[in-house]
Amino acid sequence: MTSTRRDGDTWDLASSVGATATMAAAVRAIATRADRALIDDPFAEPLVRAVGVEFLTRLATGDMPPGELVEQVAIDVAKLRTKFYDEFLLDATTAGITQVVILASGLDSRAYRLPWPTGTVVYEVDQPQVIEFKTCALAELGAAPTADRRVAAADLREDWPAALRAAGFDPARPTAWSAEGLLGFLPPEAQDRLLDTITELSAPGSRVATESRPNPRPGEDNTTKESLHRMSDRWRAHGFDPDVVRLRYFGERNEAAPYLIDRGWALNAIKVRDLFAANDLAPVRDDMRMSDMLYVSGTLTKTTK
Ligand code: SAM
Repeated sequence: MTSTRRDGDTWDLASSVGATATMAAAVRAIATRADRALIDDPFAEPLVRAVGVEFLTRLATGDMPPGELVEQVAIDVAKLRTKFYDEFLLDATTAGITQVVILASGLDSRAYRLPWPTGTVVYEVDQPQVIEFKTCALAELGAAPTADRRVAAADLREDWPAALRAAGFDPARPTAWSAEGLLGFLPPEAQDRLLDTITELSAPGSRVATESRPNPRPGEDNTTKESLHRMSDRWRAHGFDPDVVRLRYFGERNEAAPYLIDRGWALNAIKVRDLFAANDLAPVRDDMRMSDMLYVSGTLTKTTK
């Protein structure tokens, strides 16, 4: 059983919030096998195997079919989400931004698999044990970064800019920021602080991509929690007990898209539901409201300094 979240809690890739990074990579491995036209993450499966959580390894390798264990909507969303952030980062760097910061990088392998323009520096920020594990695991797999990859091991609720600057980050240069699969794991005030800090560290012309979840209507959080509990029950029967409901922060918070717009970002937003049709994916059952999420990206237009 996972303990309730608290300020300053830490984790590796097999525990607490860290396990969600391994879960995300396992779903990317399943999605990659299913549909290489939308997602091709060859490192997802070996990274999950390296973490060594047997249940997730069996899913990632295909030894155990997703069946009822991983909902089709989660697999399809992994395809769309990976494509969205891949395209955002490649568009930004092709347009001349040479500094990229991937916040909550988890087992994201973009620094090793995207065709970055020459001279691109990619910073990855996550908890120390997560950063350390992925760096070593990919080196052991013989993978080499396709950009100048630098790491900042830090807690995103604390003074992560200090670690980023120590790794060489230059706030005077435009940056492409991504925060994928992160915000719901931060308390509401830490989310605001993170978005404020991104804005403060952004030279004009910087770009950002993240997810913006609409605040729940009455009863919706309970429906989501019930679905997550049902999923946890199915997983527990296979010896894996991430207790996802305790890892996420529910309830009202400032929605990321309007919050960023108020701080000078010009954003485009697209509902995941609308991306299904645009990518020829059939609509699927979605008890967890995954397709209500907005994927947002845009540019800082105001000078904030
Ligand atoms: N972005 C990756 C992806 O999409 O595969 C990982 C997403 S995973 C669901 C959430 C990630 O957020 C984990 O890697 C976790 O370590 C990171 N994370 C959450 N809260 C954090 C915090 N306070 N400080 C540093 N990292 C954090």
